Amino acid sequence: METMCPKCGAPVAPNATKCEYCGSPLQQAPAAQPQNMQGQPQVIVVNNGIDTSTWPIKNKLIAILLAIFLGGIGIHEFYLGRPGKGILMILFCWTGITSVIGFIQGILMAVSNDENFKLKYRCRLQ
Ligand SMILES: [Zn+2]
Repeated sequence: METMCPKCGAPVAPNATKCEYCGSPLQQAPAAQPQNMQGQPQVIVVNNGIDTSTWPIKNKLIAILLAIFLGGIGIHEFYLGRPGKGILMILFCWTGITSVIGFIQGILMAVSNDENFKLKYRCRLQ
């Protein structure tokens, strides 16, 4: 994109330091970086403003298999960094309900897309 000389209005290259036509010195093209004109600090924004770079890396397939086969004692919850829920599932594993819950969670993980999975469990995927 070309900018214009503020003095004579001639088109000048974006990186030019002076106008080819009238020779007047040019400021570094303000239009090239509009987001810096408002003086806002540059922030790396990922996933709607959440910095995910510190989230642990998990393997989605492992989480699914743990939920389906060992979900009754909440192993997948420990794996996914939610030990409180894992302990709850151990406490109630004698009911058999936790096996059903774990199985359903495994299925839901399998059908959810990776973005939702990462946000729900606050992890990055391998
Ligand atoms: Zn000029």
